[in-house]
Amino acid sequence: MMVDSERFVQMGCSCGAEWIEDRLEPAATCPWCDLKLTWDQLATSDRMGVAGPGCIDMSRDDFQQIIDNCSFVETKNPSARSRYESTIWSHLYSTPGTIWEITIEVTSFKTEDQLRSITFVLRLTGNPVLFTSVLTADQLLFLVAAIARAMQTVAEERTPLAEGIFCGHPLEAA
Ligand SMILES: [Zn+2]
Repeated sequence: MMVDSERFVQMGCSCGAEWIEDRLEPAATCPWCDLKLTWDQLATSDRMGVAGPGCIDMSRDDFQQIIDNCSFVETKNPSARSRYESTIWSHLYSTPGTIWEITIEVTSFKTEDQLRSITFVLRLTGNPVLFTSVLTADQLLFLVAAIARAMQTVAEERTPLAEGIFCGHPLEAA
């Protein structure tokens, strides 16, 4: 019998994705490449593995508050996967010569207040320049703050992203 603390585990896939899986589910499914392996298959797989017990350290509400503050909008619900909810959030901003687009695709467990995966992508005028899994609130805030600072260096006004992530504090103090 599994103890509670081991129900949720951090996963890694050879495609680069990192996410959380529920061991009560029959199989693990990579959120990027859709590779699906049962726990038995995982034991001998060299393409996907369990890093250890873990979960994303934000509730859905915590996450929602961060992206609401930073003026993200829900763009679409990409797939109707039965076990997970999936949502894409976007933030668009134009500076002279560049369109900044941040998309955050989130999957979460339907029956638990637990996020399952966060995929963070930054595109500049359509070209992806940053593509990564996020597993902690710190990682999410670090990425958004770094992009907000970069965006601010070429923006002609205080950006909504900087306004949101630095909570009204002067940019210099952030
Ligand atoms: Zn994968």
